[in-house]
Amino acid sequence: MNDCVFCGIVAGRIPSTKVHEDELTLAFMDIGEVNPGHVLVTVKPHAENIYALDGRLAAAAFQTAARVAQAINRAYAPEGLTLYQANGVAAGQTVFHFHLHLVPRYNNDGMRLTWPAKNPPRVQLEVNAARLRAALE
Ligand code: 5GP
Ligand code: ZN
Repeated sequence: MNDCVFCGIVAGRIPSTKVHEDELTLAFMDIGEVNPGHVLVTVKPHAENIYALDGRLAAAAFQTAARVAQAINRAYAPEGLTLYQANGVAAGQTVFHFHLHLVPRYNNDGMRLTWPAKNPPRVQLEVNAARLRAALE
């Protein structure tokens, strides 16, 4: 995709600071780094979001994420590490080429995701799960 910034990075048309590269994935520094060592893991073929990943790409993305997360842990020994991955504007996605954020975390580093837990009764969870099981078939 010519107008996709991450396709441009994968192809080398747009400069980036690379951390790791293999056949299917590329890990590079996020230009908007939240904490030092903030890395993006992307898949090389254009895939807009998680819905567009086949099993091979999904496996490759997570394998690279785990490997780079372990490297971040060795290199920076952060107090924590958050995996963040957005699909769609409502979820906060701004670049529409699938990627995972690996963000080294520290107490009181200012990064926040509010989590408005509803704690529904188990019967409601059963209804929700049945809907998903049907969708998986
Ligand atoms: P999203 O909001 O889609 O999860 O995250 C997109 C991320 O891509 C942002 O954190 C932003 O800083 C990063 N980003 C956007 N354009 C570029 C770029 O040209 N180079 C790099 N390295 N990161 C980018
Ligand atoms: Zn792309």
